[in-house]
Amino acid sequence: MTIRIDGGTIVGWSGATHEIIDGGSVLIEGDSVSYIGSERRPADRVIDAAGKLVSPGFINLHVHSQLNVGDYLITDATKKDYLSANFFVFGAPVKEKSAAPPPPESVALGRRYALYSALRNGATTILDPGGGPGNLDDYVEIVGQIGARVFFSPPYRSHDVFTDAQGRHYYEAREDGGRPGLQRAADFIRKFNGAKNGRVQGILNPAQAETCEPSLLKETAAAAKELGVGIHTHAAGNLRELIEILYTHGKPAIEYLADAGVLGAKTILGHTVFITGHSKLDYPFGDELKLLADTGTSVGHCPHKYAKMANAAESFDRYVDAGVNMGLGTDTYPLDIVAEMRYASLISRLVDKKYYGARAARVFNAATVWGAKALGRDDLGKIAPGAKADIVIVNLRTTRYGPARDPINALVEYGCGADVETVIVNGEAVVEGGRSTRIDDEKLFAEAEAAAKRAWDNWPKRDWAGRSVEEINPPAFPTRKT
Ligand SMILES: [Zn+2]
Repeated sequence: MTIRIDGGTIVGWSGATHEIIDGGSVLIEGDSVSYIGSERRPADRVIDAAGKLVSPGFINLHVHSQLNVGDYLITDATKKDYLSANFFVFGAPVKEKSAAPPPPESVALGRRYALYSALRNGATTILDPGGGPGNLDDYVEIVGQIGARVFFSPPYRSHDVFTDAQGRHYYEAREDGGRPGLQRAADFIRKFNGAKNGRVQGILNPAQAETCEPSLLKETAAAAKELGVGIHTHAAGNLRELIEILYTHGKPAIEYLADAGVLGAKTILGHTVFITGHSKLDYPFGDELKLLADTGTSVGHCPHKYAKMANAAESFDRYVDAGVNMGLGTDTYPLDIVAEMRYASLISRLVDKKYYGARAARVFNAATVWGAKALGRDDLGKIAPGAKADIVIVNLRTTRYGPARDPINALVEYGCGADVETVIVNGEAVVEGGRSTRIDDEKLFAEAEAAAKRAWDNWPKRDWAGRSVEEINPPAFPTRKT
């Protein structure tokens, strides 16, 4: 099967940088791009992209494949020990209240909904650091069905996090030390790496820096080497984590990971906000940014989520200037990698008080070629002969943009995932006209809504103080009683 995309503003690749080719043509043969330029070569199917942007598919380095119902609780108005709490707000259950694992249908629904949302918003490649527990054969089938390229294996850790009856968080060593989890992840990678025509890709997911003891991290590094895959972990994501690592190991998060041997060119750290030099930290020792740059470690930067929590990495530009490879992830809804570029740019400017900072080219690179580099893939994140045919077509002729002077500046400053019309992964159109070519969008949304409502209605059963969602995160306005 050959597909030709004609007439759009193409974001091509010069060999060194993205370059704009107005009114060009892209030829896709099988799962790869075979030609880009001005000729119209014969093809089985032609997609007319006149007036549209033909962009490399984006790389979203942070999508948890679950319903993420806790996202609405992350700005917990009642929490006095917030400490940039992040997942602690909703993710640390009361041990005694730990519920039975969710039924397979709801696990499958969460996976399908999150992965599809990210894809629909323009991410052709997704890094999934883990969703709910569940069957792994099903996971692979869902990736095949949705059609995204997904880096995943089930997460594991040596320590669990719980909340006690007074609302205090604590860590507890697991009896199994997290080893069966690592084993399960390695088995998954051995069995499924490359499945679904290369859409399923392995990556090890030791869950968070402070929930994995040094020996588990060392074994992770060895396993990653043996399996030939990368590593993702959450690090420097909240101050509670920093306190835990500092008080247990006498060093901050990035130093801790470096000493455990997990930093390197195939490692991605999610968030990496609270590192030496951050204005909220009273820790004037070492240079964690240099440690990241020297080891070639990448960061999966998620600025929107941190802005919600009144926090920011300081700053996207400073990390780039220090030589750190920066990719972008959404983590929280709307899983919109296009809008995330804008958050990355604006928040970096605010942090640095520099209106000319974090230019469009940088954040676009982060969402494309730098994200690909983080995953060790130079055949992703660019449109070039030999690269995988992972492409999105975006309509820039909407009222959002005004008359667009430069397509990339326009996309970064004004764009959103809803403007993505067509998503091609591995040479197959998996979204057309803004809808999946493979699943029923409306049915998926309706099912997800019903499942999320059930989870919120049952929230008091799992909350440490038996509180409702409305108590934790009050509604914007009261509802009229009818
Ligand atoms: Zn995460």
